[in-house]
Amino acid sequence: MIDKTVAELSVALAAGDISSVELTQAYLDRIARYNDDLNAFITVCEESALDQAKAADLARANGDTSPLLGIPLAHKDIFCTKGITTTCGSRMLQNFVSPYDATVVERFSAAGTVMLGKTNMDEFAMGSSNETSFFGPVRNPWDLSRVPGGSSGGSAAAVAADLCAMATGTDTGGSIRQPAAFCGITGFKPSYGRVSRWGMIAFASSLDQAGSLSKSAEDAALMMNVMAGLDSKDSTSVDTEAVDYSATLNDSLEGLRIGIPKQHFAEGLSAEVESAIRTALLEYEKLGAKVKEISLPNNHLSVSAYYVVAPAEASANLSRYDGVRYGYRCENPVDLEDMYKRTRSEGFGDEVKRRIMVGTYALSAGFYDAYYRKAQKIRRLVKNDFTNAFKEVDVVIGPTSPHTAFELGANSDPVAMYLEDIYTIAVNLAGLPAISIPAGSANGLPIGMHIVAGDFEEAKLLNVAHQFQRQTDWHLSKPTTLGMGA
Ligand code: GLN
Repeated sequence: MIDKTVAELSVALAAGDISSVELTQAYLDRIARYNDDLNAFITVCEESALDQAKAADLARANGDTSPLLGIPLAHKDIFCTKGITTTCGSRMLQNFVSPYDATVVERFSAAGTVMLGKTNMDEFAMGSSNETSFFGPVRNPWDLSRVPGGSSGGSAAAVAADLCAMATGTDTGGSIRQPAAFCGITGFKPSYGRVSRWGMIAFASSLDQAGSLSKSAEDAALMMNVMAGLDSKDSTSVDTEAVDYSATLNDSLEGLRIGIPKQHFAEGLSAEVESAIRTALLEYEKLGAKVKEISLPNNHLSVSAYYVVAPAEASANLSRYDGVRYGYRCENPVDLEDMYKRTRSEGFGDEVKRRIMVGTYALSAGFYDAYYRKAQKIRRLVKNDFTNAFKEVDVVIGPTSPHTAFELGANSDPVAMYLEDIYTIAVNLAGLPAISIPAGSANGLPIGMHIVAGDFEEAKLLNVAHQFQRQTDWHLSKPTTLGMGA
């Protein structure tokens, strides 16, 4: 049962084929058995999970028919959870217990889901391999010597290895989609503003967006039905009409116009990923879609612009970790300055420090115009590229990552790591919704296909992804490690 999708589990729970307590226990057993191999969870909430499962079973007995009632999930450890440690993958917050729930967490609880625990992640969501976590790297369930991608690597590995039915993630430059691609699952990043950021620890506020990691696009729609919508606690949350994301999953794709950015099928893309995506496009043609080449002429500038904007915002957001209010404080500071210095040197890891330094530099007097303002201008050009593209096509499709999951430790140069997000980062700069779905494999490792839609066209995007998953089996393939695939 634990290998089923949320949609299937929902039916099984409603039919009484299994109880939430049984299901929750099955996931907890699997976590106990395999989390040492994967390091996907930082915190496991055994007792509270079983309590929530009991409550869900009781609510069902009393007539509650909420679709996600009793479904066990995991939250990325960037979401504040009341009474439960929220570390953000950092020593700085190793012992931080939040006094409130993030809106996303609150909404999933109100929907009757069961929280199994908090998943591992790159420190403060900075990374593309989950190797920057203070709690050690996560391993890819398809090959334990490889990375799961990052920064939502724990959530992706947990879903792929059936340690939970679904998980939350966050995506600032690719952190949901790239790990979904590396782990062979569905990773969905909604439009900026669609899901509340309240209680989600801030990295780069104008780019951060909560989303989902799941076994199918159908499940992503079920999760969106719970997560999305206006939140008065987040001033950037957008007041749009409520959408039923499941309602249009089966719309026909006849006449759908797909744009293929020529810049995404160029130097740097591995031959096996290119051939998988081109084969996947044939499926869409069978469904009645029309494929044409488009151009995103400023795409090559997006990584550079992101690595000015994101560190600048991070340097401001992370200034709150000063040892005074909460989080880590160094031992026996001699004075205030010593406390600030040692707290921050000891509490943050190397990648976080690198970002703070770059960001502070880019914002400093004299350099602001040269870097930050210029990066903002590029951001506008990147957005315009998409606006122009969407005059001609309905969705843009390409690879999520240039290659499949790499070996742990293989990418030691920070700039090489930054280039991991070459196809995903522009989407965050433009605030658009995008999804990565499994679309092939090479040498036993999954390949992700990236689909982007216009502003707030999540329902269309999920429809396009779901129709592919109805035609193909890539999303159903499983790793053969950890007692799976037997
Ligand atoms: N890999 C990118 C970075 O390190 C994106 C991370 C993210 O989306 N949170 O900043």
